[in-house]
Amino acid sequence: MWSDTPFGWHSLLSVALNLHLLDPREVIAGAETAYHTGAAPLAAVEGFVRQVLGWREFIRGVYFLEMPGLTEANHFGHQRPLPRWYWTGNTNMACLADAIDQTMKLGYAHHIQRLMVTGLFSLLAGLDPKQVAAWYLAVYVDAVEWAELPNVAGMALYADGGRFTSKPYIASGAYIHRMSNYCTGCRYAPDRASAAKTLRPLCPFTVLYWAFLDRHETALAANPRTGLMAKSVARLAPEAREKIRADADELLSRIESL
Ligand SMILES: Cc1cc2nc3c(=O)[nH]c(=O)nc-3n(C[C@H](O)[C@H](O)[C@H](O)COP(=O)(O)OP(=O)(O)OC[C@H]3O[C@@H](n4cnc5c(N)ncnc54)[C@H](O)[C@@H]3O)c2cc1C
Ligand code: SF4
Repeated sequence: MWSDTPFGWHSLLSVALNLHLLDPREVIAGAETAYHTGAAPLAAVEGFVRQVLGWREFIRGVYFLEMPGLTEANHFGHQRPLPRWYWTGNTNMACLADAIDQTMKLGYAHHIQRLMVTGLFSLLAGLDPKQVAAWYLAVYVDAVEWAELPNVAGMALYADGGRFTSKPYIASGAYIHRMSNYCTGCRYAPDRASAAKTLRPLCPFTVLYWAFLDRHETALAANPRTGLMAKSVARLAPEAREKIRADADELLSRIESL
């Protein structure tokens, strides 16, 4: 993820595919031809075909298997309303400001922005899955419910309790820092060391990530893919865990001005 790089190296094909202006087989055949003529390397073609033939078709299958229950799915019982800045991008969190601003201007954000910026914040902040799903359906030009809802309720929010994902996609601000240049220009610092060094407040993603680990330690410990995360919070002293909870509550009490 990089500021002022809304499309990156993505194909921008989802709208044409979802509107049936392009057949997925045509797209895959085009990619195969690019490989055979030497115009694209195998790794790129394999990854792209996997998105179209693998993920897109799989998501369509999930929709038909899981509906109509998916619209009501709320595994964690999250109820918090969507902050108003989801509609404006007017927030001090640089990653969210960038992803939402480009979404409002272009109707587009690429997969990692959808999953690991707006989706991740929605999960960590305990936003109501129905409101989050309605937002995704409203703002993206490629949004059709069969493609949108499994990605939002299943992948981003784990609202279905993991019917097709093996763990919730959770991460702290350090992940976004590794995967982007957003944190450099942000009012917040992604981790405790850089917060102490630069005197910036600690990143809300990081505060809420630790509170999520604290809340769900037992379930995370029982899953081999998240066991290590559970251990990192289990090691903390009771006072440290109390502070994590208090910091998260304080932060969420002023969610509209973050
Ligand atoms: C929270 C969330 C909401 C999403 N909502 C939608 C949506 O409403 N409509 C939609 O078409 N996609 C959705 N996606 C999937 C994916 O993010 C978009 O298909 C992709 O960003 C579209 O941009 P692109 O065409 O440049 O894709 P590229 O990154 O170039 O990928 C190529 C193609 O692969 C297909 N694809 C890749 N991943 C997925 C996936 N997980 N689900 C379905 N198709 C996939 C798409 O058809 C896409 O055009 C969502 C993902 C998340 C995490
Ligand atoms: S410090 Fe946190 S809020 Fe700011 S850009 Fe990085 S991840 Fe986003």
